Amino acid sequence: MYDRFNRNINYLRISVTDRCNLRCTYCMPEEGIQLLRHEDILSFDEITNFTKVAVENGVTKVRITGGEPLVRKGITTLVRMISEIKGIRDLSMTTNGVLLKQFADELRAAGLQRVNISLDTIDPEKFKTITLTGNIIDVFEGINAAKNAGLIPVKINCVIKESKEEEEAKAVTRFCKDNNLEIRYIRQMDLVNGHFSMVDGGTGGDCSLCNRLRLTANGKLKPCLFNNIEFDIRELGFEKAIKLAVELKPECGSKNETGAFYNIGG
Ligand code: SAM
Ligand code: SF4
Repeated sequence: MYDRFNRNINYLRISVTDRCNLRCTYCMPEEGIQLLRHEDILSFDEITNFTKVAVENGVTKVRITGGEPLVRKGITTLVRMISEIKGIRDLSMTTNGVLLKQFADELRAAGLQRVNISLDTIDPEKFKTITLTGNIIDVFEGINAAKNAGLIPVKINCVIKESKEEEEAKAVTRFCKDNNLEIRYIRQMDLVNGHFSMVDGGTGGDCSLCNRLRLTANGKLKPCLFNNIEFDIRELGFEKAIKLAVELKPECGSKNETGAFYNIGG
């Protein structure tokens, strides 16, 4: 699918839940989180059938995200349903890694190809400060489990404030080198005020190269993370929502006031 700016839209990111087992300070405020009602969250059949239509329209790359995708009950079943769709060449997941030790093998068996794991520090105390509830040992074990299960290449998403030369980021970089992991640096974004920037090591943030559509946990299809426009796949029907999202994908992002990272999926 080509949009008005000749970008080939072939990448779908699916947020499967807005729930999370961590509370990263830059993502989920400690208080005042408005969680979706369970009945508003897309069912596995809805997600799979929507993805089928997206693939028929040219999507070849799918990423499962959240919230934390591994807290969605039955996630392995969903991964299997999606992996059975003919035409997906790249099926990945972004996770905080906390539950990967438990799930890595079954996810691989269900057809997941690779994972991105979020890690902004290797210091247990700082990890606790950032995530409020997390234990970094779980993430380290999750990384190993992912490698052992063959969910490779394992990539690390490292949120930085300004630069990858910050102490925390430098330590994560060394950790990745020592453990044969790829790293992506993501500048901390301010979704509400529309502050965003390039992802170092990836195409994120470079609007001219953006090939993404995002499906929120409650069925809104967003052509741009930094724009309010979204199309309700239940109201419009899958085909029409996709058509409109591609047709109206903005040339460049500016500001988003309609969602939060934990619903849209980052
Ligand atoms: N829970 C999973 C995780 O943390 O990997 C998946 C969802 S999370 C919203 C997806 C990515 O968005 C993570 O790599 C996270 O670090 C990043 N993220 C969350 N809030 C952000 C923010 N304000 N600025 C930049 N990246 C952010
Ligand atoms: Fe949860 Fe991921 Fe947001 Fe952290 S970044 S609070 S792990 S959804």
